[in-house]
Amino acid sequence: MARYRESVCRFCRREQTKLFLKGDRCYSDKCSVERRNYPPGQHGQSRAKHTDYGIQLREKQKVRRIYGILEKQFRNYVHLAERKKGVTGENLLLLLESRLDNIVFRLGFASSRSQARQLVNHGHFLVNGRKVDIPSYRTRPGDVITVKEKSRTVKTIEESVKTVTRRGIPDWLDVNVTDYSGTIKAVPTREDLPPTIREQLIVEFYSK
Ligand code: SF4
Repeated sequence: MARYRESVCRFCRREQTKLFLKGDRCYSDKCSVERRNYPPGQHGQSRAKHTDYGIQLREKQKVRRIYGILEKQFRNYVHLAERKKGVTGENLLLLLESRLDNIVFRLGFASSRSQARQLVNHGHFLVNGRKVDIPSYRTRPGDVITVKEKSRTVKTIEESVKTVTRRGIPDWLDVNVTDYSGTIKAVPTREDLPPTIREQLIVEFYSK
């Protein structure tokens, strides 16, 4: 699968907001956005003119980078969201949130979504007792996600679980740290999802 190879902190600086792509570092004063909150590159500090298209593009890129999804797959999510009942923008966010790698991250078994993706790829998780190693696997309310017994000593999982309280667990999820499992209690509402995302701009971007 294609992967980004440049420093992900550049993405945060480009969007001028923290996207929390690097685990613990994002909560420390080493965060690049804390130190240099202007876009990277030679013209980073010059005043940029923002067109409607530019604003929509930036919002789309921001969300794509938060969830670590490549363009083609992201566009597929938008089309899927359009076909579902309800508000397209919210449908899109719900689809992204239901990905297994996102759930593993939200439950605190990984310190970032990219780390969660790698752990899922390596087959460390069970969904309702069955091994699932597809990061984009779509979870549903009632699903129980468990770290495989043999995988509970994996250093990255152990360390992430230790720091889970610092990040907090969303209300729509339930985690049991002692038996390394988590349950999806409900479909999140818009209030449960990141308030800084303006999903309508993304829908407008793709409607052109
Ligand atoms: Fe973004 Fe985290 Fe890097 Fe800060 S440390 S710039 S939040 S990826």
